Amino acid sequence: MSFTLAIVGRPNVGKSTLFNRLVGRRLALVDDQPGVTRDLREGDARLGHLRFTVIDTAGLEEATDESLQGRMRALTERAVSMADVCLFLIDARAGLTPSDKVFAEILRRSGKMVIVAANKAEGRAGEAGYLDAYSLGLGDVIPLSAEHGEGMDDLRMILSPVAEQFAVTDVEEHEDDSDRPMQIAILGRPNAGKSTLVNAILGEERLLTGPEAGITRDSIAVTTEWYGTKVRIFDTAGIRKKARIQEKLEKMSVSDGLRAVRFAEVVVLLLDVNSPFDQQDLRLADLAEREGRAVVVAVNKWDTEDDKSEKVKFLREELARLLPQLRGVPLVTISALQGRGLDKLRDAIVKVHETWNTRISTSRLNRWLIGQVEAHPPPAPSGRRIKLRYMTQVKARPPSFVAFCSLPEELPESYIRFLVNGLRKTFGLEGTPIRFTLRKGE
Ligand code: GDP
Ligand code: GDP
Repeated sequence: MSFTLAIVGRPNVGKSTLFNRLVGRRLALVDDQPGVTRDLREGDARLGHLRFTVIDTAGLEEATDESLQGRMRALTERAVSMADVCLFLIDARAGLTPSDKVFAEILRRSGKMVIVAANKAEGRAGEAGYLDAYSLGLGDVIPLSAEHGEGMDDLRMILSPVAEQFAVTDVEEHEDDSDRPMQIAILGRPNAGKSTLVNAILGEERLLTGPEAGITRDSIAVTTEWYGTKVRIFDTAGIRKKARIQEKLEKMSVSDGLRAVRFAEVVVLLLDVNSPFDQQDLRLADLAEREGRAVVVAVNKWDTEDDKSEKVKFLREELARLLPQLRGVPLVTISALQGRGLDKLRDAIVKVHETWNTRISTSRLNRWLIGQVEAHPPPAPSGRRIKLRYMTQVKARPPSFVAFCSLPEELPESYIRFLVNGLRKTFGLEGTPIRFTLRKGE
């Protein structure tokens, strides 16, 4: 994750010019969801080695009447609420105007970090206005020329420590590399049909590489192509010949599973239709959830089931009841032995993998949050109002969010569940764990 910068200021100071310079042609998103304002532009900015999100209040005209002024203010407040840092632009040639002071006040009250820049400062005409800007009392002022690209180094130097503050060092995050195989672990009790499934997926001739040295002596990874999707399957009890006696397998499977889960992106929990959801299945499911993996539940030996439609209904209910932490996880029925349902299984895996990788922009999240809080304000257990003003996705794989709350320890668990369920619904985050953290902040 990196940070979000809002460019704020009255019309005509050069916000769009600066926005365009930072974003180049990388305008990522003009959100046109119904009911959402289109007056905020968002783009992926690049400044030297820095990468961040930039928001601009596009297309505002100088406010002449009150309704326009109100709108301008509301829009600015919204942009500010989405931002980690605000860049306040004034026009160095025009000097400070009463309108600038209104914006300065909005920023001061927001409590956000503010950088003041005097734009159009190329040449000498800007000197007076530049010095004028110090009287805003918002700290140092940097001279900029968005049009001529001057002052961009200064801006970069001021933003560098901000970027560091928001940087996450996450070894699991790599650039999206579509050629990298998707890492899958198939977990299940002994005899659920794991090796049969792996062999069905592999097929003789599809095997790209032979069994590799596994992550441990006891497990093996194979890379193959599965209906066009490159996958690496970590096998816990599968491909290796079952030289072991059953008891030993029984004992091994959970710790073995743990190792496979650590390396997997998607965990396929394989159940036997004749004894679904027993203790060991539940433990494995829980393990996958706690490790933050995407999950698909596959019910095997479907060929032995007579009353298929009744059974599906039963299984879905059981899944919801026994594994509420895995809400929305897809359930597919297969016959590994007959090679049936494998395409459905692959589709489900690809889908949850995608979901697991989801990234939602800070601005979309905050628009959503504002709506949720308006529709269902957080309760006030101790009589004090709990403010929940801002959230952001700190990482993907699995999607992880941080929300800033005035009284984090008082926000009831049920309200957090309400938000997490809402996130799932609105952004289609089914089949993946979600991490949600509260931090103290206004
Ligand atoms: P916004 O309304 O704040 O988005 O402002 P714009 O980006 O549309 O710029 C308003 C006007 O100022 C345009 O005519 C720009 O060409 C001009 N402008 C923007 N940046 C500079 C600058 O650095 N120097 C000069 N001289 N003019 C600029
Ligand atoms: P593992 O211990 O999970 O690797 O399970 P295996 O793949 O060794 O399968 C255990 C037993 O279940 C074997 O006798 C398989 O032939 C059988 N089996 C596996 N998949 C199916 C299936 O889809 N239908 C039926 N009827 N039997 C299956």
